[in-house]
Parts: sequence; C-alpha cells; structure tokens
Amino acid sequence: MRILLQFPEGLKQHALEHADRLQKEGHEAFISGSPCYGACDLALDEARAIRADKIIHYGHAEYLKEKPEIPVEYVEWKVDIPQDNLSELLPRLKGIKKLALVTTVQHVHQFPEMKKFLEKNGISVLTGKGCFAKYEGQVLGCDATAATSVAKDADCVLFIGTGRFHPTSILIGKPVYSFNPFSKSFTDLTPEILKLEKRKRGAIAKALECDVFGILISTKPGQSCPQVAEWAKKELEAKGKKAYLLVSNELNPSALGNFRKIECYINTACPRISEDTELFGRPVLNAVDLKELLGLL
Ligand code: SF4
Repeated sequence: MRILLQFPEGLKQHALEHADRLQKEGHEAFISGSPCYGACDLALDEARAIRADKIIHYGHAEYLKEKPEIPVEYVEWKVDIPQDNLSELLPRLKGIKKLALVTTVQHVHQFPEMKKFLEKNGISVLTGKGCFAKYEGQVLGCDATAATSVAKDADCVLFIGTGRFHPTSILIGKPVYSFNPFSKSFTDLTPEILKLEKRKRGAIAKALECDVFGILISTKPGQSCPQVAEWAKKELEAKGKKAYLLVSNELNPSALGNFRKIECYINTACPRISEDTELFGRPVLNAVDLKELLGLL
C-alpha cells in the first residue's frame, strides 16, 4: 500500500520511526513535509500527487464531516496527565460551585476522571460537545462549543491542558481558567480573551476606512469556504467596495502583502488567522464579523 504519513509540527520528530515500521511491513511510506495545523488540514493534494492509497494523520481526531475521497486513518496521540497533580487545583477553585470543564484531544481520554475528581470535591461539572470536535468536553481552536453551550449556567470555564491556543477560543463572558496538569500552573485567561475581543473591535473600526478588500480562501479541506468568500465579495461590492478572491493553501502574510493595494482582509479560512493582524500588516476580519461591518458601512 502507498501510505502518506502526516504529522503536526510537535510530532514530526516521530515520523521516521513510523515510516520505518510501515516499510518493514511492506508498505511504501511517504511523509508529508508541509506544516500541519489541525485535522482540518489533511494533505489531500500531496496524497493525490503520490497516488496514495491512504493517509495516516497523527495527533488529531476526525474533524471533517464529509468523507475525503482518499481514506484517512486518524491516530490520536494520547498523553496521560498526572492525576495526583489535580489536587493542586482545589485551592484555586475556592468559592466555585459549578464549572464548565474542557480539555484537548490529547487528554480527552481522561476527561471522565477529571470530572469525577472535581465532583468528588464538591464542584458540579457541566460538559458539552462541540460542532467539529469529536468528543464530549473537547475544544478546538475554532470550536469552543463544548464550553460555550453549557457555560451560561456555570460560574466559570476550566480548561485542563497545555498551551493558550485552545482555551483562548472560549468567548463566553465568564471567567476562563487554565490549569496545566504538568507544571501545575493556574492561569486566569479572561484578560487575554478580552484583549482578543478588543482587537477584533479595532479591526472592524479600521475596516470601515478601507476600500479594497482581499478575501482569503484556503484550499485546506476543513478550512475551505469558497461560497462564503463569494458571498462576501458580492456584499462588499454592493457597498461600493473593491473585493478580490485570494486562494492559497498557506495564507502567508508576506506573500499576500505583495498585493499592495489591498487594505483589509476578510478571512474565510481558520478563524484564528484573524489574530495575526500584526503579521498581516492590515486589519483581518473573519467572515462571521463581516455582517457587522456591512451593517456599519
Ligand atoms: S481551523 Fe484552525 S483552529 Fe480549527 S482545527 Fe484547523 S487549524 Fe485548528
């Protein structure tokens, strides 16, 4: 079998040993050398180019609702958290009676234990299921529904895991706390989330002054929304603006910057791209925020 292996950046170091194993089993192994940002980012173009019979995608759970034309095997990367460290959480959660609990795919296999621990210590735990995320309690950088669908009845949201990328997607108007179960550090992410919201408001204000828009379309299978991009173009043109459809697999700020006359981007790809306004050197608005802009024009 011709197999394309795809790893996110943090796991690429393990790629060669997996290729060796498959080759020993008699397969022909190819490794995707492109960056990989999520399960939205399946290397279908590369798989087609090498006539792969299947893709093995490591580190993420299934994301796409539609089955791709090339079979994909998802190999999740489970990382056990030291359960004993959870007790460090309790003094930080004093006064909290009910919380919405979330984590990432690496630790979601231990989600029931995390929940049980908190409940055993007198805290009610609310859990939800995301739109794109596969598991109960799992958040993605673009899908915080596991938290937002239940947080209205909670005192706060608690994320157990590492990094800020996933929990800073939780915009709910309630405190969002993050607990790193390895370093045992506890962080209130609410100010950072509010800052991102403020940045979005600033981008809308700047976009009001712009006349030439670039609408970003990604060819990554789980990020590609050409229909939304075409809708955005029509709506902007109806307001007397110029709008261009820019298609790329990698939405690279410096390559896009060469379209010098473009003053503002409307992003239809990964919604977290809009946080990189500084890299893009222009306001970047997600397509979901375009309606608000159109209402103000
Ligand atoms: S769209 Fe963005 S946030 Fe969502 S899974 Fe892909 S890379 Fe992550």
